[in-house]
Amino acid sequence: MENISSETISRENSGTSVCPKCHAPVSTTENFCPQCGAKLKEPPLSISVGRQIFIYLISFFLAPFGLGYAFKYLKQSNPEARKIGIIVVVLTVVAITLMIWITYAFTNWEFQSINVL
Ligand SMILES: [Zn+2]
Repeated sequence: MENISSETISRENSGTSVCPKCHAPVSTTENFCPQCGAKLKEPPLSISVGRQIFIYLISFFLAPFGLGYAFKYLKQSNPEARKIGIIVVVLTVVAITLMIWITYAFTNWEFQSINVL
């Protein structure tokens, strides 16, 4: 039981693994066990340009929702995917800052128009 992490690493390097459910040998490239259909790992997230634009738009215009994507991408081992996660976090911060600034500017403008009346 103590050797689990080193065993997992050597299995990943050799390209084969064992299904946690039925213990059938499976390839590490497999997302599902071919024997019993158990989920072996999360399928890698898409990093296509279209997907990136979609996520960036969500993180900018629906700021808090983008963070859900950010955490998923930051957990990926692919450095490209992690970069997307970082950009999403930055975009979310920028969007929220803008939102606060616009709200503040609008409130000021409203007070000024009230003062004029
Ligand atoms: Zn299985």
